[in-house]
Parts: sequence; C-alpha cells; structure tokens
Amino acid sequence: MKRVFHGSFTAQEPIPADAIARAVDVMQSGRLHRYNTVPGETAETALLELEFRDYIGARYCLAVASGGYAMVTALRAAGLRHDAPVLTNAFTLSPVPGAIAGAGGRPVFVESTDDLVIDLDDLAQKAAETGARFLLLSHMRGHIADMDALMAVCRAHAVAVIEDCAHTMGAAWNGTKSGRHGLAACYSTQTYKHMNSGEGGFLVSDDAELMARATILSGSYMLYGRHPAGPPAETYRDIRLDTPNCSGRMDNLRAAILRPQLARLDANCVRWNERYAAVAEELRNVPGIRLPQRPAGEQFVASSIQFLVPDFDARAVRDFLARCLERNVEIKWFGAPEPFAFTSRYESWRYAGAQRLPKTDRVLDQLCDMRLPLTFSLEDCRLIGSIIRESALETRAAIASGSLREPPAMEVS
Ligand SMILES: *Cc1c(COP(=O)(O)O)cnc(C)c1O
Repeated sequence: MKRVFHGSFTAQEPIPADAIARAVDVMQSGRLHRYNTVPGETAETALLELEFRDYIGARYCLAVASGGYAMVTALRAAGLRHDAPVLTNAFTLSPVPGAIAGAGGRPVFVESTDDLVIDLDDLAQKAAETGARFLLLSHMRGHIADMDALMAVCRAHAVAVIEDCAHTMGAAWNGTKSGRHGLAACYSTQTYKHMNSGEGGFLVSDDAELMARATILSGSYMLYGRHPAGPPAETYRDIRLDTPNCSGRMDNLRAAILRPQLARLDANCVRWNERYAAVAEELRNVPGIRLPQRPAGEQFVASSIQFLVPDFDARAVRDFLARCLERNVEIKWFGAPEPFAFTSRYESWRYAGAQRLPKTDRVLDQLCDMRLPLTFSLEDCRLIGSIIRESALETRAAIASGSLREPPAMEVS
C-alpha cells in the first residue's frame, strides 16, 4: 500500500491570539488609518516601522500596501527614468517585472544558474550592453546569490541594487541580513510570505532622500512627521512639493497583526528550515533529483523547496508529477508551456518584449517547486519527501521499460 499525504499546501497557520487581540483593539478604537491618532499616540503602523527597521538594521523603514508597491516605489524614489532599462532575474515572479513596468521602466532579464541565483557573468554583460542604472534583484524562492561578488559587479558598472526580499525576510548572507546589501530593499507580508497580513509590505533603505520621496509617494500628505522610522523633517523641504502622492499606505489593522508576528519571525525561520531539512533528507542521493547547492554563507529561510529533474524530458516530468499528485503531493513545475497559478515564465510577460535566455530555459524546464507551510509537521515533510523520491524512481523505471504514461491534459485547465 502506497502512503498518501493528507495535508494542504496552501494552509497557513492561524494569526496568533495576541495579534488578533491587538487587531480587535484597533477596530474598537475605529482608528484604522495610520494618521488617525489621538494626542500623544504613536500609530501601530509607525510602531511596526520602528520595529522592522530595528529588526533589519536599516536606517529607515516605510510600511506600505504590498511588496509589489514597495518595489514600484523604490524604483521611482531611486530616480528611475521613463523607458529606462532595469535588470532583473529571469527566474522570478510576475510582480517583479510588473513593478519595473509600473515604475515606467523596461525589464531586461538576466540568466539564472542551476543553483537558482542570478548569473553574474550575464549580469555584467547585460549591464555593459544596456547601460542599465538599476538591478531589481529577486532573491527568488529564498536563493541568495554571492552578494559580495554581485555587489562588486554592480559597483563596477555603476548599477544600483534594489533587493526583492519577498522570500528572504529573516535570511542573511555571511551574517548580513538580506536587504542590507543594496540601495534599498522590499519585503512582502502577503499571506504566503514570512509574515501574514493578507497584503502588505515594507521598504527599507539608509538613503534619506530616497526614503523621503518614497514616503510622499506612499501617500503621507504633509504628515510625514508621523514617520518616526523615516528621515529627518528637513529632508522633505523640496521633496514634499516635488513628489506625487500615489496612495499605497499600510493601515493600523494590518500593522497590529504584524507586530506580534515580527516577534516570532526568527523562531518561525528555524521551523521552516527544519521542514526543509526533513524533505531534503529524503531527496538526497536520489538518482535524477538534484537539490540546488547552497553555499555556507547563505543563511536561508526555506519556506519552500526546489529541486531539478535533469534526466527527465517534458513527458517524463508529467509522468512524475502525476505520480506525486496521485498521492496528494502537489508539485509546481516551471517548465509547463502555459503559465499556471502563481508559476510563470519570463516568456509569459510579453510586455517586456521577446528576450532569449537559453540557460534559464534549461533550468526552468527541470525545475520543481513546493511550498513548505508551517502547518506541515516534520512527519508530513518526511512523508512528502518519500513520495517524491518513490515517484521519481517509478518514472525512471517507466522510462527504462518504455512505459511512461500518456500525458493527461494538465496544463490546459
Ligand atoms: C510575492 C512576491 C512579490 C510581491 O509581493 P506582493 O506583496 O504580493 O505584492 C515580489 N517578489 C516575489 C519573488 C514574490 O514572491
């Protein structure tokens, strides 16, 4: 009898009871807007900004409506010009090129390696070819490039780095928190990320003028003085009049449920990594399955796991995914020709113009991906890992005996 998994890959943990209690307090006060305070009160949103600033170790922090909004705002506040090229990873999620387009820029995709990080040779080449002034660096699925080498390439080409830390909140490179290498960094508190307020995000930077522009852009009106985690008032003297208001604030209700979660973030990062280790242990040394190499300097937070199936062609991958799915293990595949659910490939962002990335294509064709929600027990993770291993071995046997299944029409749903 084959064992079947019975959990859900999309079930998050409940919001902690103290966070719910705080949210109820905010709702009872009626003061959900961050600038609706009584004398002497500091809004929940401003308190959250102070706490997140201190957690990350940045000079300034702004809480906003989403991670995508943080990225658009960072690019605009950093001075991106209309129609200017912006470098970004080809292996990323659609809000990243979307933020570049939203800020008026043109995404230029950079190859990814089979360890799922940006390819530094291609980065140097595309920086030189395009003259791009910005890299929107996506630490996609929590994989962190060699940040010392990356920053050296970017310095050499005068490229400013804005980090997309949607999957690296709580992670670090050689002891430096993810988001502390570039000019600015963006985080998401959307339900599937490392803290959950439904929607939400942060922008952090040490650059006072950038953050003053970002604060006005976010819709601070002339109330920027209510941002204790923002730059000093004099920074705003001209910026407050020269910068448009493009509303995208965070509200006190979300801030109230995030503050208690921030206090638990590091403990949760440990729990994610325990789950990753439990699945990875089952996949190690399985013929045909390759886990990306993670250098010692990468202090990752594995809220998901990725692996490559380099020996399988598209038909074999479908056979393998179907065997996993029969046992309720839902694996996302980046090689599917049609974009599906959250998974998409750079070709499906046609507004960016046709771009060819053969190295990334090869990686995506082999790339499998799975969330590791904290609702999974370690036992669940071992079971999932063993189902993946057994399915991969069955597919190998089917290839050898010429008995691969005919593909079901799975990508046309
Ligand atoms: C989720 C995500 C974002 C955007 O965050 P939102 O808060 O949903 O706008 C950006 N980058 C990556 C890699 C993401 O996964």
